[in-house]
Amino acid sequence: MRSIRREGTSAELAVGRALRSLGQRYRKNVRTLPGSPDFANRTKKWAVFVNGCFWHRHTACVRATIPKTNKEFWLDKLARNRKRDAKAIRSLRALGMTAIVVWECETGDEPELRKRLLDVFEARGIGMSQPVDH
Ligand SMILES: [Zn+2]
Repeated sequence: MRSIRREGTSAELAVGRALRSLGQRYRKNVRTLPGSPDFANRTKKWAVFVNGCFWHRHTACVRATIPKTNKEFWLDKLARNRKRDAKAIRSLRALGMTAIVVWECETGDEPELRKRLLDVFEARGIGMSQPVDH
């Protein structure tokens, strides 16, 4: 589980910056929640997964390639990753949490990323944890 979440460090940094700029506090790599979300706030009831497009199979994304060698192995492994992700999201929702998936390829455009997260927080009525000083 850990190994498939260790890629995309710069993507995680971008998401952390976006969350802070929106005044959201969080814990990182929350192992006590289903799927060990990369960022989460239990009180505010949200969790964010930063998913690598390859490992987590971003639909129709150019990064979600299938290796040519050991194709069967990869198809099976990647299908299991996908299933596990879906299960984690269902479990989080069952706990009344908002689960947000951010794809690695979406983190390059930080203003857009911030806007997307803000839209979700606003739609769910999730307020800031701290004032933003700019
Ligand atoms: Zn992608």
